[in-house]
Amino acid sequence: MARRKKVYEGKAKILYEGPEPGTLVQYFKDDATAFNAEKRATVEGKGVLNNRLSEFFMTGLNAVGVPTHFIRRLNMREQLIRAVEIIPLEVVVRNVAAGSISKRLGIAEGTPLPRPIVEFYYKDDALGDPMVAEEHIIAFGWASQQDLDDMISLALRVNDFLSGLMLGVGIKLVDFKIEIGRIWENEYMRLIIADEISPDSCRLWDMETGQKLDKDVFRRDLGNLADAYTEVARRLGVMPQREPGITKPTLIN
Ligand code: UDP
Repeated sequence: MARRKKVYEGKAKILYEGPEPGTLVQYFKDDATAFNAEKRATVEGKGVLNNRLSEFFMTGLNAVGVPTHFIRRLNMREQLIRAVEIIPLEVVVRNVAAGSISKRLGIAEGTPLPRPIVEFYYKDDALGDPMVAEEHIIAFGWASQQDLDDMISLALRVNDFLSGLMLGVGIKLVDFKIEIGRIWENEYMRLIIADEISPDSCRLWDMETGQKLDKDVFRRDLGNLADAYTEVARRLGVMPQREPGITKPTLIN
């Protein structure tokens, strides 16, 4: 088979040209990064877990009518997705204070928020993904007011769906980040969920013990990241057994 054309390589994933126009193949790497890639490691098996978990979440979202880029899983590390034009914003939804909101506003980690809070960050590694207001987004043309309203509504629907799913397996969805893209169908433009939904982009706390089951395990050196993600997958009934090849993480940096 001819070598596929690489379209984009990010920190945790690679995008290749897809088999049909308007599609891409998304490959999940084992690389873990944090603090704007200042901390890096290879966590064996992470790509396999995130491929499965993102498939699980996106399939569920598609089924309840929240459109996503996911078409189907191709193999252990790859999935077929719809090509989108990514809106250069990270959309964060928070249910409980943790991470940057705790630091910035001095709210103790673990404080429940009175209502879900939606925040936007401008995707620019050189600037460290700064938080931006709706005013900036409109003024600089990253999205329209209509897009923003649609993005908030999509983000809150994802929050309801994921919170419920996690509650069912004894996990609290503290916060998460999604990315949203545009697709065109005939004359119409639509926004759909893109990128990935996985423990790399969520905060997940065990409801009984408070144990962290997300990328904070790596950010804060709390243990084996693959074990934490495997536990999430096990509880959700995704990959109940550890697959061969998932071993201890190896630090490369
Ligand atoms: N997040 C992410 N990618 C980023 C920044 C944040 O996936 O580049 C996720 C993060 O895992 C958490 C949520 O978004 O679930 C909120 O992150 P926060 O703003 O608290 O930043 P952090 O503490 O991760 O720097």
